[in-house]
Parts: sequence; C-alpha cells; structure tokens
Amino acid sequence: MASYQGDAVIIGGGLAGIVAALELLSAGRRVVLLDRDDEDNFGGLAKESFGGILIVGTPEQKRSGITDTPALALGDWLSYGEFGRDAASEHWPRLWAEAYVNDSRADIYEWLKRHGIGFLPMPQWVERGMFGNGNSVPRWHITWGTGQRLAGALIVALQAHPRRAALTLRFGHRADALIDHGGRITGCRGVIEETGEEFTATGDHVIVATGGINGDLARVRENWHADWRAPPAIILNGSHKFADGRLHDAVLKQGGAVTHLDRMWNYAGGVRHWRPRKPDHGLSLVPPRSALWLNWRGERIGPIPLVSGFDTRDLVTRVCAQERQYSWQLLNRKIALKELAVSGAEFNPSIRERSAIGFLRDTLFGNQWVVDQLIANCADIVVAPTLPELVAKMNALQGDDAVDYETVRATAERYDAEIARGPALHNDEQLRRVAHLRRWRGDRLRTCKFQPILAADAGPLIAIREFIVSRKSLGGIQTDLGSRVLDRAGAPIPGLHAAGEAAGFGGGGMNGLRALEGTFLGGCVYSARRAVKNILG
Ligand SMILES: Cc1cc2nc3c(=O)[nH]c(=O)nc-3n(C[C@H](O)[C@H](O)[C@H](O)COP(=O)(O)OP(=O)(O)OC[C@H]3O[C@@H](n4cnc5c(N)ncnc54)[C@H](O)[C@@H]3O)c2cc1C
Repeated sequence: MASYQGDAVIIGGGLAGIVAALELLSAGRRVVLLDRDDEDNFGGLAKESFGGILIVGTPEQKRSGITDTPALALGDWLSYGEFGRDAASEHWPRLWAEAYVNDSRADIYEWLKRHGIGFLPMPQWVERGMFGNGNSVPRWHITWGTGQRLAGALIVALQAHPRRAALTLRFGHRADALIDHGGRITGCRGVIEETGEEFTATGDHVIVATGGINGDLARVRENWHADWRAPPAIILNGSHKFADGRLHDAVLKQGGAVTHLDRMWNYAGGVRHWRPRKPDHGLSLVPPRSALWLNWRGERIGPIPLVSGFDTRDLVTRVCAQERQYSWQLLNRKIALKELAVSGAEFNPSIRERSAIGFLRDTLFGNQWVVDQLIANCADIVVAPTLPELVAKMNALQGDDAVDYETVRATAERYDAEIARGPALHNDEQLRRVAHLRRWRGDRLRTCKFQPILAADAGPLIAIREFIVSRKSLGGIQTDLGSRVLDRAGAPIPGLHAAGEAAGFGGGGMNGLRALEGTFLGGCVYSARRAVKNILG
C-alpha cells in the first residue's frame, strides 16, 4: 500500500485545492495534494471556466463609473439568494455572504493580482434580477486569459514554488474515505485507479476540495429542486466528471453536515458537445437576447418572455415548467454573430489567448469562428434559408412534428411587426429588456439593436434546441468561517476542513437559492484561503 505524509492533506486539485496548497507551502507546511484526474486536467473546472469573478469595489469598477460597496453587494446577494426563506439553515451561508463582500477586494482581487492575474477593463453586468432584485451594478470581472490563465498561473506558481520539495503531488488517486483517529480526522484512504493499489495519506489537517455533486446526473436528479417539477428526461453534464459527491458521503459518514444539495446553478441553454470528454457532455450557451425563446411546440414562452442576463434560475424554472423540458431559440445569422457565445475557455480563444486584436475584432465584427464551429458541428443547431424549411428541420431533429409551423410564423411576424413600428411604440417585454441591456456599454456591443427575426438581409435562419445543463452545486459540506467542517450538532469536526464547490463555496451554500455569478471562482479562492488561515491559527 502506498502511503503519503504531510502536515496537511488536500483532496482535489481544482482551484480551491491549488490555492490551499500554495498558501500552506508559503507558510512553511508540508503538503500532500491528491487528485483523481490526470495531470493534464490539473486545475479542475477553473481551467475550463470563463474566469468571471464577483468582486466588490475594484479600480475597474471605478474607472467604468461604478460605485460599489460591500453594503450594496450584500443587499443584492441576500435578496437574490432569497435569504429569509429558512433562517435556521441560513446562519452560516449568511455569515459567508457577508464576509465575501467585505473581503473580496483584499482577499480575492489583490491576491490574484499578486499572482499576475488581471481582468478585462470593464466589469460585466450579469444577473440583474427579473425585477431588479439581482446585481445593482456590474461587478463580474472577467479574467484576462479566462479560467485557463487563472488556473494556469496558480499551477505555475505551485510548480515553481521555492518550497516545491515540500509538496507531494499525486494524480490518478481517488480518495474514498476519511481516516478517523479517536474523533480527529487524520487523513484519507483510497485507490490509485490505474493499478488498483490502495493508498493512505495522513496529516494533521485534511481539506476536502473535491468539487460539487453536479457531475453525477443520477445525483442531480435525486436532489432536483421542488421548484423545477420533475427532472427533465435529458439533462446534459456541464460539470466535472468526478464531481460525484463521494467525499460529501465520506463527510456524512463522519457525522458532518451536508446542506442545500437541491440548490444548484444549472443553465437553460445547454447543447451537446461534439467532442465529448464525458458522457452527456453539454456546453452552456450564452443565449442570444434578440432570439425568440420558444417551447417544444414552437410557442413563445411567456407571458414574460425569456431573456438571458436577468435571472439564470428563472430561465431554468420556466423551461422546466413546460410539458417537455427543453426549448428552442429562433434567430438568424446576424443575431448569432453579435450575440451567440459559449461559456468557458474553450470557445473564447481571443480572451483565452489574451489577444487584444482578436478580442476587438470579435467585439466589432462578431465571433464568426464560434458561430461557424457551432453550426458545422453541434447536433442541436439547424439552419435554413426559409422558415418552412427551418421548422421542417427542427421537427426532423426532434423526430416528431411537435413544432407547429403556423405558430412559429405568426409569433415571428408579430414580433418583427412590432419592431417595424419603431422604438416609440415598442410594447413587447423582450424589446424593453433589450433596450435596457443596451444602455450598459458592456452589453451594447454584444446586443443587436431591435433585430427582426425574418429580415431578408439577416439570414439564414437558425434554430437551437436547448436542454438543461447541470453545472454548479450551490449547496455542500457545511463549514464555519474558518472552513472547518461542522457536525450535525454544529460543532467543528477536529482536523477536517472543506473549501470550494465541495463546501457550497463556503458555509454549505453561501449563495442561497441564486448566485450573483462569479461567486464560484471567487468562493474557491476565498474559502481555501480561510481554511489555511484557520489551520495556521
Ligand atoms: C465551462 C465552465 C465555465 C465556468 N465559468 C465560471 C465563471 O465564469 N465564473 C465562476 O465563478 N465560475 C465558473 N465556473 C464554475 C467554476 O469553474 C467551479 O465552480 C470551480 O472551478 C470549482 O472549483 P473546485 O476547486 O471547488 O472544484 P473542481 O474544479 O471540481 O475540482 C475538484 C477536483 O477534485 C478532484 N476529485 C473529485 N473527486 C475526487 C476524489 N474522490 N478523490 C480525489 N480527487 C477528486 C477532481 O478530479 C477535480 O480535479 C465555470 C465552470 C465551467 C465548467
């Protein structure tokens, strides 16, 4: 049996695990860092992510004319997360929310800057809330280089650390259980997957940083939120293939508390990846705002139309309320070029490669490359020169005749006719929201100015079939502000910490029911740093 010893054992080499390892090494500790995945995937989901981080009160905000404060952010956070629904279970999440908004500038932003990580100059305004109950101001800061740079820079810092010799780094190691020595957690045991050999890793402290549960679709279904009816027949996987909650179960076995697992941050714009790296691999589209969002029959979902940028959870809830829980977006090439995007590093090469020229080109002339990739490869996208042909292709794709041509035609024509009457007479909620979105510079560049769907010069027409894609676990292992894992009576379990998505980003669900976005990557850095501070005493 292989065995490893350190002062601390970290299970999981995603962002939370890497940050914890860096901080412990810098404080003179010996660290064992174990990950189930291959070394190529070191960095976990952060490496694939877009790299948007919620930070309050930054120079980027100030330069963009935004005044933001922890008090304003906390108000937004608590209202958007619907805190107050169940006060007893919100004690730790609320304290974490408060701590995050107070400390994000110093403990996330400044810390990342010290590691050479920078941000695009203009913060984005995401999750505004359906009726203004979300982010009052833009505070989503996109990492220059996407999550690939974020994870990459920290991995380089770890590998080049002056105390690198004090780090035992092992891949292909699956932890299965925690080791309990007289009531104190002193390590973990598991299996080296390639050889089947068992291993143990021991230390004075153990940090669980194994991510959430959303990579296991059976588990996602088991914990499906009551607001979302029954789980859809098809759910795509946009999480980590090893985010299966194995260590959540190990914590439960030790008497630990795991809370709010039915709170998830899933997306409504999921399409199948054509080069899947896991079963049911889904991409999450940034759904075009100028597209008409239709249900499985081709009827516009309403009465308030679906428009992204306001409330991600509401989009999921509304699609799941339909008899068949998938949807269609109807658009044209002009809209696609300006608005269609895919979340993550993979399909944002200009930002990922830090190409200022490429970024400017995509912003001004549309992201031709991503649109062409999607159209050429994605099984859930159909294109046609005319609407009858498009609807025929939609039905052929679905394998039935559920989409009614007359309904789609009448819906698109009514919408286009309203646009033609001119902005002074716009009385469609989607057009009102498009006008509102365009008022913020960061969105004006990426949102068409009232684009008709059937316009002859904007084609061909495009329809995208969108499934729910599983992404982030908002709930998780309950922790106090030192990231110490709490037992079901609320007392810390000696020796055991949890950080990142495993801990619901802090407190077993610091976001509440909804997230202001960017609190995930931010929450990984923050909760890992709090764990280390607590360990160092
Ligand atoms: C495409 C995409 C875009 C995203 N964009 C953003 C964004 O813009 N902003 C934002 O805030 N968030 C974003 N996220 C979410 C964010 O990336 C994650 O929430 C965050 O990176 C989670 O980090 P983590 O360290 O907690 O867990 P993970 O990244 O899941 O890492 C956990 C690690 O633990 C390992 N592991 C799991 N089980 C075991 C075991 N039993 N034994 C040993 N090792 C194990 C895994 O192999 C993995 O390496 C995005 C996610 C994706 C997929």
